[in-house]
Amino acid sequence: MTQHVKKLSLPSKPRDFGFFVDGKSVPSGDREVFERSSPGHGVPVSRIPKCTAQDLDRAVAAARQAFDDRRWSGLNGADRAAVLLKAAELIRQRQEEIAYWETLENGKPISQARAEVGGCIGMFEYASGLARSLHGDSFNNLGDSMFGIVTREPVGVVGIITPWNFPFLILCERVPYVLASGCTIVAKPSEVTSATTIMLAEILSEAGLPDGVMNVVTGSGSSIGQALIEHMDVDMLSFTGSTAVGRHCVKAAAGNFKKLGLELGGKNPQIVFADADLEDAADGVAFGIAFNTGQCCVSGSRLIVERSVADKFEKMVAAKLEKIIVGDPLDEATQIGAITTDAQNTTIMSYIDKGRDEGARLITGGATVDMGGGQYIAPTLFGDVTSEMSIARDEIFGPVLVVIPFDTVDEAITIANDTVYGLAASVWTKNIDKALMVTRRVQAGRFWVNTTLSGGPELPLGGFKQSGWGREAGKYGVEEYTQLKSVHIEIGKRSHWVE
Ligand code: NAD
Repeated sequence: MTQHVKKLSLPSKPRDFGFFVDGKSVPSGDREVFERSSPGHGVPVSRIPKCTAQDLDRAVAAARQAFDDRRWSGLNGADRAAVLLKAAELIRQRQEEIAYWETLENGKPISQARAEVGGCIGMFEYASGLARSLHGDSFNNLGDSMFGIVTREPVGVVGIITPWNFPFLILCERVPYVLASGCTIVAKPSEVTSATTIMLAEILSEAGLPDGVMNVVTGSGSSIGQALIEHMDVDMLSFTGSTAVGRHCVKAAAGNFKKLGLELGGKNPQIVFADADLEDAADGVAFGIAFNTGQCCVSGSRLIVERSVADKFEKMVAAKLEKIIVGDPLDEATQIGAITTDAQNTTIMSYIDKGRDEGARLITGGATVDMGGGQYIAPTLFGDVTSEMSIARDEIFGPVLVVIPFDTVDEAITIANDTVYGLAASVWTKNIDKALMVTRRVQAGRFWVNTTLSGGPELPLGGFKQSGWGREAGKYGVEEYTQLKSVHIEIGKRSHWVE
């Protein structure tokens, strides 16, 4: 592990952000304000309003009105596509600013933040095509007197609740697809990373999105988030976050039976066979656990490795982890930055202690890194781990990897599936039979063969088991925000029931 010093500078004073309702930014006024400090430096960088229940009602009412009067859903697909394409262009123009604020609030390296914003541009561009190609079905085989069509209609007002680990990316894996479907939005970002969600609302407005179609409320999960999931005028909720809060959403949604999309936690296996390209696999495994300091729902946090190469491979991965550049998020050279919240820092360190207490062998890392401010943890590897240990079972959401050896393909699959989660998995092998067998039998919504954490706008995201419901992105993502209507059309004279 190498340490670096910062290059870009911090803001001289915290920036004030307003929330966004009906096409306008609303300043905090006399509302309470949440001040966010940069996790990489401990310096205040932003201030956001704590919205009230009345603010939420206004935002939902604006989204409702914008949906009901069809100012967005009533446009043709080409006009909706034009707004999404314009938004892509504006995001490109503001890429540096968005990346900077993502880094300041989240603690991720600036180079990574730039790449993520680049990926978001692609989401808008891809979804613009879907706005034009979304279609239903027809049944011309119902006999001469009947014609059937199936149409897709937007669900209505969609609440979007996002976590702090990829504030802009996760938002952009949803918003353009929701908009392509014709729905309207009330988004609530995590209270610690709200800036870039507010920026997206401004960008969409500038791109020509009609007022009221995209609204943003800010504040804590327990107050404004809870009120949003319970709101009787929200037709669908897309929640991304912890499995615990996801379970809570299921209960709260019962009020008006709102449709739910849930993207929750993961404890994702990386299965490495002895016949893999071990150099590639070691690099992929190190990337899979250390990227975004392991604060990814899809982090490859369980290394399930064939016993015959386990010792050698463990050392290869440890060598990679030790070379990762941990540093100031504003430094161009940094590969992993700060842990995003104090609470998460405490959680990760407590799991490292548990790992030691449970008898796992610490191979590398296991300690905080002093950068003179902020909170940093060295990438950590534990050997001699069994599937019963909490470090093998719980989602740690940090740079902590556990090694579990296996002897047979069946055993590897059993270990991989021995979790309540089913979000993502990777397999590393040069044997096509093994790769396909494992891909078919491991329960996960995203699967990688000889790679990890790849993604893009085309392929859907989502989980099996307790990792969630539904899919985001791709054509599947747009379809999630629609509901089907069956239309039966009688042709010619009706054959009478009452003569
Ligand atoms: P979290 O569940 O604490 O919070 C997520 C969001 O929900 C935040 O905006 C928060 O304010 C809000 N929230 C909290 N309590 C709420 C309540 N009672 N009602 C409504 N909203 C509430 O999660 P987090 O700590 O921000 O993020 C980490 C978790 O998110 C991890 O478990 C991770 O796996 C998961 N995650 C999943 C995905 C995915 O796509 N599957 C992506 C990123 C993160």
